[in-house]
Amino acid sequence: MNRILLHTCCAPCSGAIIEWMLSNGWQPTIYYCNPNIYPLEEYLIRKEECTRYATGLGLEIVDADYNHSAWQCCVKGLEDEPERGKRCLECFKMRLLSAARYASEHGFSIFTSTLDSSRWKRHDQIVEAGNWAAAQFPGLTVWDKNWRQGGLQERRSQIIKEQDFYNQRYCGCEYSMQAMHDDKKQARQRIRRLISVMTPEQKAAQSASIWERLEQNQAFKDATDILIYWSMDDEVQTPAFIDKWSALGKRFYLPSIQGDDLIVKLYDGKLHPGEQFGIPEPDGKPVTDLSPITLVLVPGRAFDAAGNRMGRGRGFYDRLLPRLPHALKAGVCFDCQKLPCVPTDDNDIKMDFVI
Ligand code: SF4
Repeated sequence: MNRILLHTCCAPCSGAIIEWMLSNGWQPTIYYCNPNIYPLEEYLIRKEECTRYATGLGLEIVDADYNHSAWQCCVKGLEDEPERGKRCLECFKMRLLSAARYASEHGFSIFTSTLDSSRWKRHDQIVEAGNWAAAQFPGLTVWDKNWRQGGLQERRSQIIKEQDFYNQRYCGCEYSMQAMHDDKKQARQRIRRLISVMTPEQKAAQSASIWERLEQNQAFKDATDILIYWSMDDEVQTPAFIDKWSALGKRFYLPSIQGDDLIVKLYDGKLHPGEQFGIPEPDGKPVTDLSPITLVLVPGRAFDAAGNRMGRGRGFYDRLLPRLPHALKAGVCFDCQKLPCVPTDDNDIKMDFVI
C-alpha cells in the first residue's frame, strides 16, 4: 500500500474517497485540520464523525489544533465575500498549508484533500491552494484528482446513509452559516446535536458567564419578582443562580405544566417532580396575579439577534407569555443556540433581548 496524507474536512466528504483509496492500493492517514468551522460544538461533531469512521477502518487520524481566531485573521477583510469567492481560497490555503507541512515533516511524499468532493466548492480554487501549499515543501506533491468523478459522488450519498453521518447544512464558517435557512425541525435536530457534545463543565462555565452578564443588566437589578425555569440537562443551568439570588432577596417563580399550559408558582425552596416530564416544580398553589413579575427568563431551542425564539415545539411559552405583557422577556441559551436567523411563525413571541 502507498502512504498518503488525506486532509479531511468532514465525514460525508471523506467516506467514498477513503473507501476508494483502500481498494486502490492507498493507505490514507487522516489529517483533520478545519479551524474554519464555527461554532466549536459544530467542529467537535464533525471531528467526532470523522474519527468514528476512520478508527472503524483501522486508520490513523491526526487531530490538528482548532484555532478559529487564527483562521479569522487569515480571512480578515474577506468576511463579506460570497461563498466560492476569495475568502474560500484563503480558507483552503490555510488548511492545505497545514496539511502540506505535516506531510513534509512526517515522511509523506504526497497528500490530497476531501474538500474537492463537495459540489459546493470550486475545484479550481482547491487545485490552486493545494499546488501553492505543496510548493512550499520541496519533494512534496499534491494529488489534484477530481474526487467527484468516477461514481464517487453517488457512492458519497450512499455512505452518508449507510453510516448515518451527521450531514451539516452549511460549509463551516460563521459567514457560510448566515446563508443557511433551516426549517424548524432541522434547526431543532442540529441544536440537539450541538448541545449533546458539550461537557458538563462547558455547560456549567457557559451558564455562569450568562448569569454574570444578566447580573449587570438594569432590568435584572430592578426586578424583585422574576419568572425563571428549573433547568433540564440541555438548558442553561439555573439552580445555583436561583438559590444565590433568592438568598439575596429576589422572588422567583417557576412554571409548572398542567395539561397543555404552563401555570406559575412561587419558588420557596421546595420542589417535586412534575407529572408530565418530571421537571422539578414548586409545591403550593398557582399564582394568579402575575403583575409583580417584571422580568421573564425564557429558555428555548434557538434564538436570533432580533429576539426571535424557537421553543421545543409544544407552544407552552407562546401561550404563557401573553399573560405577562408588562414584563420584559429575556431569552436564555448557550452560544451554540444563537442562530443567524430563527425560523418562526405567527404564534411565536419575540424576546426583548437575548442574554
Ligand atoms: S464558506 Fe467554507 S470554504 Fe468558504 S471560507 Fe467559509 S468555511 Fe471556508
